[in-house]
Amino acid sequence: MKLYNSLTRKKEDFVPIEEGKVKMYTCGPTVYHFAHIGNLRSYIMEDILEKYLRYTGYDVKRVMNITDVGHLTSDADEGEDKMLKGAKREHKSVLEIAKFYTDAFFSDCKKLNIKYPDVVEPATHCIDEYIKIITKLIDTGYAYLAGGNVYFDTSKLEKYYVFNDFNAEDLAVGVREGVGEDTNKRNKNDFVLWFTKSKFEEQALKWDSPWGVGYPGWHIECSGISMKHLGEYLDIHCGGIDNAFPHHTNEIAQSESYLGHKWCNYWMHVLHLNTATGKMSKSSGEFLTVSLLEEKGYDPLVYRLFCLQSHYRKALVFSWENLDNAATAYSKLIARIAALKPEGETDEAALSAMRAKFTEALDNDLNTSLALTAVYDALKFNTNDATKLAAIADFDRVLGLGLAEKAEAKRKADAAAPAASAGEFFVISESGEPDAEIEAKLIARRDAKKAKNFAEADRIRDELTAAGIEITDIPNGVKWKRGQ
Ligand SMILES: [Zn+2]
Repeated sequence: MKLYNSLTRKKEDFVPIEEGKVKMYTCGPTVYHFAHIGNLRSYIMEDILEKYLRYTGYDVKRVMNITDVGHLTSDADEGEDKMLKGAKREHKSVLEIAKFYTDAFFSDCKKLNIKYPDVVEPATHCIDEYIKIITKLIDTGYAYLAGGNVYFDTSKLEKYYVFNDFNAEDLAVGVREGVGEDTNKRNKNDFVLWFTKSKFEEQALKWDSPWGVGYPGWHIECSGISMKHLGEYLDIHCGGIDNAFPHHTNEIAQSESYLGHKWCNYWMHVLHLNTATGKMSKSSGEFLTVSLLEEKGYDPLVYRLFCLQSHYRKALVFSWENLDNAATAYSKLIARIAALKPEGETDEAALSAMRAKFTEALDNDLNTSLALTAVYDALKFNTNDATKLAAIADFDRVLGLGLAEKAEAKRKADAAAPAASAGEFFVISESGEPDAEIEAKLIARRDAKKAKNFAEADRIRDELTAAGIEITDIPNGVKWKRGQ
């Protein structure tokens, strides 16, 4: 497969270090708040990469950290500690906050069909690893002590800006984020490996170290956790594009200075989810979470489909209208799959022809929108339904859209209200979740309109409205969703 490598800025053939095996690392969440759906876009696309690698036969080991210490509000080690901020906001301890939001994150992942990584490691569990790395970095002259903290000396590197050629002034962190500069730093981009002179009197989590009681900086945790579980050589490191600088840049700086050789071969970065007014973030605009989508009546898998409809290296614009379109597409797709009859022998030749289109799409730097086209092509393919169903189930091992399960639920709902999919009239649940009773009423409304009994049609509409169901007529049917 070809994968775009942020390090070389080229699509490259993916070749793992050890044949048949892939070592994959993902930057996990900082667990001080709910993840917004923009963050989750990265995890969905990384999940596609992992599942596709497995689909093509690789044995994948994927490791994710959980940041529960050391991440300040500015990625440049300035500002408030995010965990402390969360704890203060909710009048809880840092550990309670970490536990709560770690659970919330994986609950969101589960709803989005994102596989749980093979190893999940909280940053607070690997202090010895960081101390080992920092000690060597000091011994070899890559790190220095100043003002009580340990800093990485970026001037010791031949090349610091590995992902871009931006000028140093533009990227000078601190300045960039509008926070005061740390005068202990010898160079603008030096970063903290270990804090002892805590700015936070109430810092709850502290450990003994050769440099005094303190806690690790944010960047060191990913190097430490990755090396602990995946060794000195890494195949793929993933994260949102936000992490490329300074986080991943710093991970490379410290890891390669420590190891004395190249650390990771491929870097995958997922672009932003934007709103019409700009980049989605926790601090600006509506805070969009998986729970909010559910409250508004959307199936979380509709959001997964929405993400798969575009390429991971393009910024994606979120709007409710765009999500509605994805919901309609999802419902129609489920309806078409539900209409297939799982009978007959699978035609292996047809199956491999369909599969070729699917793998061709994903082999080209994970072109998920073309992979979705392969699903529609399978529906139209000149073969029996059993083969089509086998192809779709096979593709869904990667796409993770719950297609077989949702189609089965739809078949059951249709059995309870057989008119729901009668003729060319579509009753579309915008959330993707069918409901036999509502569908039966919408069909009765359609029949009343056909019979020109408009009073009865209006009565049914009013009854549904009173029950909080919003309905929208479309050219070939009706869409419905639960209101807020
Ligand atoms: Zn990281």
